[in-house]
Amino acid sequence: MCGIVGIVGSREASREVLIALQAVQHRGQDSCGIATINGERFPFIRKLGLAGRAFNEEDLSRLPGIISVGHTRYPTVGRGSLADAQPLFYRQPGVLLAHNGNLVNYSDLVQRLHDKSVHLLTNCDAEPLLCEFALNLMEIRDRDHTIEDAYNALCKTWKVVDGAYSIVAAMILDGKETLIAARDYRGIRPAVWGERKGAFMVASESPALDALGFKARGDIEAGEVIFFQAGKQPVRKKIAPGDPAPCIFEQIYFARPDSNVEGRSVYSQRLALGRALAGELVEKGIQAEVVIPIPDTSRPAAMALAEELSIPYREGFIKNRYTGRTFIMGDQAKRRSELRLKLNPIRSEFEGKDVLLVDDSIVRGTTLARTISIVRGQGAEKVHLAIYSPPVLFPCYYGIDMSTREELAARIFEPSPPKGGLDMERQRRLEEEFAGQLGLDTLTYLSVEKMDGTWNSERCAACFDGRYPIPLSEEKKKAIENDRRSGRDQRQFDLRFRFIDAG
Ligand code: SF4
Repeated sequence: MCGIVGIVGSREASREVLIALQAVQHRGQDSCGIATINGERFPFIRKLGLAGRAFNEEDLSRLPGIISVGHTRYPTVGRGSLADAQPLFYRQPGVLLAHNGNLVNYSDLVQRLHDKSVHLLTNCDAEPLLCEFALNLMEIRDRDHTIEDAYNALCKTWKVVDGAYSIVAAMILDGKETLIAARDYRGIRPAVWGERKGAFMVASESPALDALGFKARGDIEAGEVIFFQAGKQPVRKKIAPGDPAPCIFEQIYFARPDSNVEGRSVYSQRLALGRALAGELVEKGIQAEVVIPIPDTSRPAAMALAEELSIPYREGFIKNRYTGRTFIMGDQAKRRSELRLKLNPIRSEFEGKDVLLVDDSIVRGTTLARTISIVRGQGAEKVHLAIYSPPVLFPCYYGIDMSTREELAARIFEPSPPKGGLDMERQRRLEEEFAGQLGLDTLTYLSVEKMDGTWNSERCAACFDGRYPIPLSEEKKKAIENDRRSGRDQRQFDLRFRFIDAG
C-alpha cells in the first residue's frame, strides 16, 4: 500500500508535493521520494522514513520545476530498502513514475523484460510497468513524443501488465511538462484529481488536494488515463473498458475518514457500517453498558452503532500520537512493541462494566489480542467485541499487506473457506471459537451481506468473499505469497507472536 501524488503548473511543485505526501503518509511509512523535471534534467531524491522528517530545504532546492511527482511507500512486493523507493526514473525518453498497488504478474513481466535484455534495478513492481511503457514509447519514435504517443504506449502496456494499480507519471509530451495519471481497468486502488487556477494535482486521497487548496474534480476512472498540462484542458482517454471494483477495505480501514473515495465520503460509509453492525448485535441479543472504539479508525462506526443501540459511547483509550500505525509497520515484532506504547486505557470506563469494543477488522489478530488483555486488566465485567467488516479469510493480492493465507488469524478456525464467504451458521461458529481464543465473552462480525447493503455497487471484497475481480491462477497466487514470505523471512516474522502476548 502506498500514497502517490503529482502536481503540474505550480512554481513550487516539489514543495507542494512534500506537503501532499504528509497528507497521505498513513498509506506508507517505509520510504518516500520526490522527483521533478527541470529542463533536460529529471532530479529525484528518495529517502527512508516519513516525508515530513526526511526532506529538508536543501533537498527541495535541488528539485526545481513546475511539475513534480511524489510517493510514500509501504512495500508489498520488494523490500523496504531505499533501492525500492519511488518515484522511479527511466532514461529513455525520460519518464518519472510512482505507483500504488500490486502487479499480479510481476514475475512474468520480469522474465519478459529479461528476454529483451532489460535488467531491472529494483525489486519494486512499478519498475517493469515503467520499463514496458518507456520501451513502447521508444518503439513509436525516438524523441519529441506526443500525448497520442504516450496514450498508445500505455494501451500497449496495459495489455501486458496485470493487477491493481494507480499510477502517476511525469514527462515531456508535445514539448510541455505533462502529468499522467491512470488506473487499472477495475479501479481497485484509489486516485483522485483536482484543479487550482490552471494547475492540476493527482493524489491517492482527496485530503491531499484539500491541504493545498485544489478543488477536487473526481476520481481517475477505472481504465482511464488523464494527461494534464498547466493551463490546458486535461485530456481524458480510456485505455481499457472500465469495470470498476474498488477496494472496500479502503473504506473500512485504510483511507482517511475525511477522504472522498469513489465519490463517497469514507466517514459516512463508516457510519453506515456501524449501523449495519448494530443490526448483527440485535440479532444475537448482545447487550452492553458502554461502547468503546479501539482507536482511531473505528470511531465513526462505533458512534453510529452506539446511537443505533442507545448505549453510551465513551473513549476508553488514549492514543499516543507519537507512535506509528501498527498495521503498516514492517514486521510483527515491531508491531507488538509499538502497541505497548500506543494505547493507554482509562480505567473508570472499563471497571465493573459490560464493555462493547468496536474495531474495523481482524487481520493477524496480534494487536487485538494485546488490546483485549489490556481491557481485561482494567477490571471489565464482560468484554464483547464487534467488528464492522466480515472475517478476513482470503489473502489480498492487490496491494494490501495481507497476502498470505497463514497470516490471517480467522483461517485458524476456517482453514478452507468457501468462495463467497461463510454462511451465517459457519460465521457464528467461527465467532464463538475465535472469541474463546481471544479471551472475549463474545465476538461479532458484520456479514458480507450486511456490508454489501451499505455499499450497493460493484466492489472488490475478495479478502472477505474470495471473489477476486482480476482473475488469478493458483500459480500466480502462490508466486505472490512466496515473494511475500521471503520478504518476511528477512524481517524475522514469527507466527508465534500472534497470541503469546495476550495474557
Ligand atoms: S482483496 Fe480486500 S484488501 Fe485487497 S483489494 Fe480487495 S477488498 Fe481490498
